[in-house]
Amino acid sequence: MNIVFVSSEVAPWSKTGGLGDVCGALPQALVARGHRVMVISPKYQNGSKADALYNGALDTCTRAKIGCFGAEHEVGFFHQIKNGVDYVFVDHASFHRKGSLYGDSFGVYGDNQFRFTLLAHAACEAPLQLAFEGCGDRYGKDIVFVANDWHAGLVPTLVASKYRPHGVYRDARTICAIHNIFHQGVEPSTTFPCLGVPTEWYGALEYQYPHHMRAHELDEGRVVNILKGAIATSDRVLTVSQGYAYEITTPEGGKGMEGLLLSRANKLDGIANGIDMDEWNPEADPDCAAPYSVIDLAGKLECKRALQKELGLPERDDVPLMGFIGRLDWQKGPDLLQQALHDMMREDIQVVMLGSGLPELEDFMRWAEGEYKDKFRGWVGFSVPMAHRITAGCDLLLMPSRFEPCGLNQLYAMRYGTLPIAHATGGLKDTITPHNAFGDADKVLAGTADVNQGEGVGTGWLFNDMNADALMWAIRSACDVYRSDKKFWRAMQTQAMTQDLSWNNAARKWEQVFEWAKMDPP
Ligand code: ADP
Repeated sequence: MNIVFVSSEVAPWSKTGGLGDVCGALPQALVARGHRVMVISPKYQNGSKADALYNGALDTCTRAKIGCFGAEHEVGFFHQIKNGVDYVFVDHASFHRKGSLYGDSFGVYGDNQFRFTLLAHAACEAPLQLAFEGCGDRYGKDIVFVANDWHAGLVPTLVASKYRPHGVYRDARTICAIHNIFHQGVEPSTTFPCLGVPTEWYGALEYQYPHHMRAHELDEGRVVNILKGAIATSDRVLTVSQGYAYEITTPEGGKGMEGLLLSRANKLDGIANGIDMDEWNPEADPDCAAPYSVIDLAGKLECKRALQKELGLPERDDVPLMGFIGRLDWQKGPDLLQQALHDMMREDIQVVMLGSGLPELEDFMRWAEGEYKDKFRGWVGFSVPMAHRITAGCDLLLMPSRFEPCGLNQLYAMRYGTLPIAHATGGLKDTITPHNAFGDADKVLAGTADVNQGEGVGTGWLFNDMNADALMWAIRSACDVYRSDKKFWRAMQTQAMTQDLSWNNAARKWEQVFEWAKMDPP
């Protein structure tokens, strides 16, 4: 199949979270399975070192004129092949600005709707227009588009409204991939004429918020909602775990989309993400102090010592070292760590948090570091090498997310023998096997345990209630095993590290969904 991913971020060129990781790695796994895959993403230039990553991409010299927002805007296309994938970067001045991908210290950019409207239109043109020298034909019209999150969400709507009625992309299929339903691309309904979507399709994007979600009584709640349009017009909807596929059909998890999603339930699937086994490989991780594997975990202890040293924490082998990596916002639940901090600090543990986001939570991390000098470190910022060192050096990873579509950090952690402690939600619940005190550690260590018969020992801890007591229960239970039963701990690490977390597993399931979509009538 010819498959075209459209995404606002793709690692390593651009990444603020899991979306970038997925769009960097899944296409490569699909290529390895014999497909031809293109990933289309903006060519960001923010004056940082990361800009150099785009140096490997060549200007295709193809330009597209995109009619939207009351004018014609010219975009360029740059192209680079990596591991068999065609990465295409859309070039336009609106993607060149200091700050992060979506905003800066003043908040989100006011023209994000414009920027990602450009991306979606450019993505629809790319398979028709781009021919890469020496790389065969154009992708053409018989393709599968994967529109990731709201930023690419206009693609299914454009295919349905602008192309198919004119006989183009009749055989193409569109998949709306939801990595996080929290962000939907919502703007006042008066912006609809700017989007370049034929007028009669207004209804596809129109959305009226339920009463309880409106800002005030006079607000009619009428907006254009790009993700809603994608859910309504795509051939299939896919999200990043089965648990999350269910949660988004409920009033608690659907953020207003639950009704529409329920009406499309027979086209909705969930597939848990995999991980990039080369980037996250404890046997060869250039950011870490020593290599290790499930056979010989000596290097993990060296990573722990090196991390403690780097952070200026007491270098003790016997203390459980716990990490947190992620955005400091409501979703990821760092405020729960804040609430539980005093209780946590009464235990003989060490904690390191890496993240950036809400200023009050960043301040909390700085404050806690001063308050608990021997036990707590807070690293405010975004550092991929540091994320690797925390993943390798810690014994446990804390993931108190309120909701989690899939979550990647727990997968990375398990591959590194670092056991996750997580809130039982979405993909965390799907991918972490809870600690089973009745499991057979000997059999797990010998590789003969039958996990379906209850012989598995588990790969982490899940707590059900989103409160500090439940979190503390999980932390104490984990510390108990860590201190009192080294063999059981080693068995849990073994079970965690020997799972198949590779993308190949997930790619096979994505492929199946593409095939189903191909069988659907347009
Ligand atoms: P989300 O996409 O919701 O942010 P995921 O768990 O799916 O969450 O993916 C987060 C990705 O971003 C992981 O690769 C994680 O290591 C990375 N990440 C998040 N915050 C930071 C940070 N402060 N520094 C480095 N990497 C980070």
